[in-house]
Order: sequence, then C-alpha cells, then structure tokens
Amino acid sequence: MIDVKNLTIEKAGAMMQKGELTSVGLVSACLKNIEEKNKELNVFLEVFADALEQAKRADVLIKSGKGTKLTGIPMAIKDNILITGRKVSSASKMLENYVASYDAFIIKKLKSEGVVFIGRTNMDEFAMGSSTENSAYGPTKNPNDPSRVPGGSSGGSAAAVFSGMALGALGSDTGGSIRQPASFCGLVGMKPTYGAVSRSGLTAMSSSLDQIGPFAKTSEDAEIIFKAIVGKDKMDSTSLSLADYKSSPVRKIIGVPRDFLAKGVDPEVLKNFEESLAKLKRAGYLTKDIVMPYLKYSLPVYYIIMPAEVSTNLSRLDGVRYGLRNEGQNIFDMFKKSRSAGFGRETRRRMILGAYVLSHGYYDAYYNKAWQVRRAIIKEYQNTFKDVDFVMTPTVPTTAFKFGEKKDPLQMYLGDIFTVSANLAGLPAISIPSGVSVAGLPFGLEFTAPPYADASLFAIQKDLQ
Ligand code: GLN
Repeated sequence: MIDVKNLTIEKAGAMMQKGELTSVGLVSACLKNIEEKNKELNVFLEVFADALEQAKRADVLIKSGKGTKLTGIPMAIKDNILITGRKVSSASKMLENYVASYDAFIIKKLKSEGVVFIGRTNMDEFAMGSSTENSAYGPTKNPNDPSRVPGGSSGGSAAAVFSGMALGALGSDTGGSIRQPASFCGLVGMKPTYGAVSRSGLTAMSSSLDQIGPFAKTSEDAEIIFKAIVGKDKMDSTSLSLADYKSSPVRKIIGVPRDFLAKGVDPEVLKNFEESLAKLKRAGYLTKDIVMPYLKYSLPVYYIIMPAEVSTNLSRLDGVRYGLRNEGQNIFDMFKKSRSAGFGRETRRRMILGAYVLSHGYYDAYYNKAWQVRRAIIKEYQNTFKDVDFVMTPTVPTTAFKFGEKKDPLQMYLGDIFTVSANLAGLPAISIPSGVSVAGLPFGLEFTAPPYADASLFAIQKDLQ
C-alpha cells in the first residue's frame, strides 16, 4: 500500500512521470485513509464521488507526455472555493445546498494541470475562527491528538494533508487561517502577497485581507502549488502580474521583534523558537533584534477592519439572492428568520460588531482610526525591511489547544496575535514546522517577507533542517 502520509507531491509526481505510480493508485490510497479516519476526524464535508474518474483522466494525460508536476495529484479544497457544479457551503447552514456556477480562477488553473480534487474540507463558518469549532457541521479533530483542535479556519485542509487523505490542500488566510492550522498540524502553510493569487471564486470574508494559499508537507511542495495558482486575473482587479516578482530567493537577515514576544507566549514555544533561531544562525543567517512598536496594535485593528468587511460581504446572504430562506410575515421578518437560522453564533457576532464600527457616530472612532493605525503598521514594515529580509516569530503563542478550552471569544482572538499583521500589511508569510513539544504537539515558525518576496520564503525550511 502507498504510504501517502510520508509521500511528497515532488516524489509522487516524479514517480508518476516514470510510470512507477498511477494517479488511480494514489487517489485510491487517499480514499482508503479517508474511509478509515474521516468519521472520527470530520475532515471532509464531502468526498467527491468522481475522484477516481478524475484520476483516470490524469493518468491518460501523464501517458500522453503532457503532464505537469501536479498532474494526478490529489488535493483537498477548502469549502469556500468554488468548483463548477459542486456544493460550496463555507461550512454554513446558510449555503448548505449552494452549488457553484463557475470555477474559481485558481481552480481553472489547477484543472488545466490535471489536479484531482478529492473533496471539500471542513472549516470555521465563513472562515471565522481558529479551531474549526465554528463549523455548522461539527469540528474537525487534530490528527496528532483528536482531543485537540486542528486550528482554523482551514482546519480540515490541514488535517487532510497531515493524515494522508490528500497530498496538498488549498486554504484561505484572512488573519492566519492557513498558517495557524499548518502550525497546529505540523505542516507548511503559506499566505501569498496580497493580490498574488486571484480571489475570484473565493467566498469573501474580508476582501482587503483574504488570500488563498497552499498547505503541504514541505516547502518544495507548497511552492509547486503556489506557482500553479499565482497570476493576474481580469476578474480580480487587485490581482498582480507575475512580472512584479523578484525571483532571487537569496535572503539571509532575520529580524526578531523581541519586545513583541515578551508577553503571553508559552515557554515551550519560546524555547523552540530560540533553538530554531540558533539553528538558522548556524546555517548562515544573520539575526537582528528589531523594535516594531505598532505591531501590538495589529490585533485590535484586525478585529475592527475584518468584522466591518464581514458585515458588508455577508449582507448579500439575505434569503433572496443566495442560500437559505425561511418565510416570514413580511420581507423584514423573512430576512430575520433566514439570517437567524442560517448563521452561527460567531458569524452573527462579527456581523453585529462590523455594523457597529461602521455606524454613524462610531465610524470615525473605530473604523477610520483602525485604518490610520493599519497604515502605520504598513509603514513600520516598510522601514523594517530596509534592514532585514524577514521578520520571524512563532506562528502561534501556543501549541494546539483542547476542544472547548477557548470558550471566551477574546481568548480565541488572542491566539491570532502573530498572524494578522501580515494580512493587514498585504505581506507574504509562511509557517514552517519546527519540531514537537514534550506532549508530541507540533511547533511552527512564522516568517514574513516584503511584498513580492514570496519565493524567498520557500527557501528557509531546507536551511532549518
Ligand atoms: N483566526 C482568525 C479569525 O478568526 C483568522 C481567520 C482567517 O484567516 N480566515 O478571524
């Protein structure tokens, strides 16, 4: 039997090119793992019935000599990315039976490479959360320890790759939803420069922050997926052209914002961080302590701008245009009944918070102020990157926590402290696994780079090893 848990995309692709492996064989092995473990872990909301058909077509493509590195590779897709003719629910009751009428730009690209879509993965409803506990379809469990969360919001995508149900996955990252679950599951997770990957066909959470990105076991694999999905798309006016990219990955100066790490980080996480930093020094990196006084405001700024955009984006889900409708006595009653039944608690909380910060009288005090500070954070990064090539922190202040441990939403939000600033500043960032705790739980390191320096992030993992 093929050991998918320890197989990389690079290796599987090369084996398929040489005829030592078929996509049908590979996909069958993933389906077997799904059959064995999905019931317990709740990774997939749907496993696509035609996965083997897709694999057969991929095998024909490979035989014809027209395959690429991704042809025949089984990938798991977060349930907020549109694939024509398939359900896409954002793990919400609101969109339970919604069927996509077009392909996301990146899905079109992956289809042209003959990728096999194996299923759609569980997530926090509309990508809001850090644990997948906010899914309307029950939480996903961490394959390392099922009593713990896999992270979120793309927890299903991370769990799928870690447990050998797919070789790679796509997630979306608005404030850490790729990097944080990658860290909790021991994978590489990457959030590209804002605009590098088209958002056309991604269910919007917070449009000025959202980016699609890859999950994989190694940086090499993550880069293969990244290269396949980047590029300008006329359907997303914020998407960028590849010509903007600097290809040289030779970057060696790491900045460490010490004061930012001083509070609230688990001692074991901090110890792993220091040890990893020492390893990188031995591998030839230079390190420099940096001061970034505005970073500590990222979290409050994020939790004002994000809900504001959420309340705007989700207002279209009103029982008329899309999704669930519960009849009422008049139109307002119908809105109320549909939206109350369709949205979960956390989603409603953020829509209300967003409407509040945008409301007359509070707009200047909250929303405008948050944007002023967001600009200061962007500037601070610009200045920082004059001296260093990366900013390094742990990805999350803790390892994977237990279900129900963070019932207070504010406690949950605090865990996003190291991830949200890259989204606010539109910067590329990666989480790389850096060993496991005494309890066997994965650690992750986060590196943030200047805009367009995405490629430089994929080179670090090798040096760390
Ligand atoms: N955990 C963050 C939140 O709850 C990030 C979400 C995301 O990146 N989609 O908003």
